[in-house]
Amino acid sequence: MNSPYRGRFAPSPTGPLHFGSLVTGLASYLDARARGGRWLVRIEDLDPLRESEEAVTRILRSLEAHALNWDESVRFQSERHDVYEATIDKLLANRHAYRCICSRKELNEHGGRHPHRCPERAHAPGQPHAIRLRLESSTAHWQDRLLGLQQQTLRAERDDPVLKRKEGFYAYQLAVVVDDIDQRMTDIVRGSDLLETTPAQLNLAHLLGAQSPRYLHIPVIVNADGQKLSKQTHAPALNDRQPSTNLCRALAALGQQPPSALSGETPEHILAWGRAHWTPDQIPLNCATTPDSA
Ligand code: GLU
Repeated sequence: MNSPYRGRFAPSPTGPLHFGSLVTGLASYLDARARGGRWLVRIEDLDPLRESEEAVTRILRSLEAHALNWDESVRFQSERHDVYEATIDKLLANRHAYRCICSRKELNEHGGRHPHRCPERAHAPGQPHAIRLRLESSTAHWQDRLLGLQQQTLRAERDDPVLKRKEGFYAYQLAVVVDDIDQRMTDIVRGSDLLETTPAQLNLAHLLGAQSPRYLHIPVIVNADGQKLSKQTHAPALNDRQPSTNLCRALAALGQQPPSALSGETPEHILAWGRAHWTPDQIPLNCATTPDSA
């Protein structure tokens, strides 16, 4: 891929940024900046039941406090419903997607498989249904910039990802691919908790006629109990009043070995150091543990 580097940080606004999200944001920022690329912020606000305006404001404020300044205007997925709907129409028309009326209970009872060959199952107009991607039954492989060759078998039907939920919300799997294509992303740098979503995303990008981006999956930051930092595990919000300390810790979590004196510098200075010394090969492969007070 020879297009100019474009990368992004794409948080879902379920809460304020925590140390784990800073590490992801910083990795994507430095990777883009070290290559002279553009770095965009996209708010993945697809689920109003779990997300809030307040979280959006806090996330953007936190990024600013850490001098993680983005290019172009922030994209909000909540403003992109028409495009997602049009993509679904196209996929349905090409039979790359199908309407699925199965309930979670039914799916569980059938070991995750759709009863009665769901994709061909007739259903009444107006009956609530999800839209699922018809995965190709084949093996997906791709080269991860950190993890090396990745291989996963796509099992049609059982794992067919939901593109639009029965409740009418567009799914992450659809929106992330549509927007990465539309925003001409060349590089995806994100947490390895999303590794398993990659094959379906590659499959969807292929069906939409797009070239696949490069991927770099970084280790997930865990707490002292080994749980991924998240709202569910009560990860504390980043303290925006100590951005330099946070950035130095995040650099260290990414294996970048910042000199200890750096934490007394401004966030801008620390980011300049990070960009000049960015060495993705040094990122540890395994989960990093969060520092206690981040
Ligand atoms: N919105 C997703 C999240 O917050 C990240 C999407 C991605 O980087 O692909 O976990």
